[in-house]
Amino acid sequence: MTTKLVDYIIDHEDWLMERILGYAIKRGYSQYTSTLKEAWRLSISGLSQSLVEAIQSRAEGLELCPVEDYTKDPAARFGIDEAQRHRERGVSLAMFLGLMKYYQQVYVELIKESDFDNSAKSRYENLTNRFFDRVEIGFCTTWASSSDDIIVKELQDRNRQMTNEKNKYLTIFESLSRPVFIVDSLGQIEGMNHAAANILKIDTVPGENYYGIDYPKIEFVDLFPWLKDTYRDFLDRNEITVYYEKSINDPLQYFYISCSRSLDISGKFQGTIFVIEDITKRKEMEKELKNLASTDPLTGAKNRRSFLHLFEQEVLRFKRYGHSFGLIMLDIDHFKKINDTFGHDIGDKVLKNLAAESLGVLRDSDIFGRWGGEEFIAFLPETNIHESSMIAERLRSKLSRIEVSDRKGRLVTITVSIGLRVVTSGETDVLVDEVIREADDALYMAKKEGRNRVVLL
Ligand code: GH3
Ligand code: MG
Ligand code: MG
Repeated sequence: MTTKLVDYIIDHEDWLMERILGYAIKRGYSQYTSTLKEAWRLSISGLSQSLVEAIQSRAEGLELCPVEDYTKDPAARFGIDEAQRHRERGVSLAMFLGLMKYYQQVYVELIKESDFDNSAKSRYENLTNRFFDRVEIGFCTTWASSSDDIIVKELQDRNRQMTNEKNKYLTIFESLSRPVFIVDSLGQIEGMNHAAANILKIDTVPGENYYGIDYPKIEFVDLFPWLKDTYRDFLDRNEITVYYEKSINDPLQYFYISCSRSLDISGKFQGTIFVIEDITKRKEMEKELKNLASTDPLTGAKNRRSFLHLFEQEVLRFKRYGHSFGLIMLDIDHFKKINDTFGHDIGDKVLKNLAAESLGVLRDSDIFGRWGGEEFIAFLPETNIHESSMIAERLRSKLSRIEVSDRKGRLVTITVSIGLRVVTSGETDVLVDEVIREADDALYMAKKEGRNRVVLL
């Protein structure tokens, strides 16, 4: 019953592939073959398929016969086709035959290591050997029957095909808009595409270095000292590809870098492929968008949502370190009247002016936000009662000196009321909403007590 053998072979393609790859690496064949694992998988599945076909199509078995027409035998046919393909690629008969012996050994070992009983094992082993004999007869016959002229013609055709293929990939490589550097295992630049040469200001024509002009051997990190740590980190890791984001100053630039390990089929490290993308524009746009999303468009102060977010973080920090802070709630007095008397656009002008003047009074570490309408809020970190009161008073006084003139030359002035709440080191159980409400209560009292004043809660 050969169906058991057929199923067994089909089920063990991975096993076969790993084992032939092992022999190819150990015996040195891998350096002449494809570096892609997929190519090995295909070779095993091709052989297995042909072996299965040979077993199934010949009920009489695979024994050899002196007068058989081997061109009609699927096993020999497989050998003939493979011989043709390998000879075209410049593989010698000795090399092809040698590697084929290891393929045969792998299939025989598969049977030997199976659970079949001894008589089945010996039958299957014989079938396998005969199959490989037939393959061998096929490719030896082909190899021997070709004249040198035919072989040279085949090689020329194949060479032309390979040149076209190389040119196709070279064109793709050169036209990539992202700079690609190929760095060898010693850290020296082995190749780069046109975009890469451009950022180094090397004056080349795409593809030039393939046609005779060699770049001088340059250490990659000598060209990019700022990538020294990145490169070291990548080499220390055991990953195929690692992505990094790096920035450099003067001028500020951001880069997205992908480092990929180039390995041969045996897993040996051959070098690194760097793709370096300048993402400065994108980063700046992101920053601008973030800024837009967190800023009040009229006054440039933080919007309510963004202020709250920052304030929440500051309260957490306060809970850790206990440094006292102040919270100011500020509202323009009788602002409705200003709008009514001078118009909404003058009101807007006042609001803008107020924000600019407030930022002048506040310190860089303070956070200033528009709480809504003509109501503003300020967070004063690391500030005690005395300092907070002084800042609040300075704000009130400064804002009362704002002068905005309308179209008719009339001067518009304002006063503001301020509520202040200062949180001191002992109050570690303080709540964000509570502090805001209390500053608001203080503001309400300032209004009630006659406006244009600071009330400390
Ligand atoms: P109070 O002293 O009690 O605060 O009196 P008020 O008139 O300022 O009263 P209230 O705070 O209720 O009124 C705020 C006014 O601010 C109402 C609204 O029309 C005006 N306002 C809110 N947002 C804007 C804005 O973006 N531009 C302008 N020009 N006016 C605004
Ligand atoms: Mg008001
Ligand atoms: Mg108001």
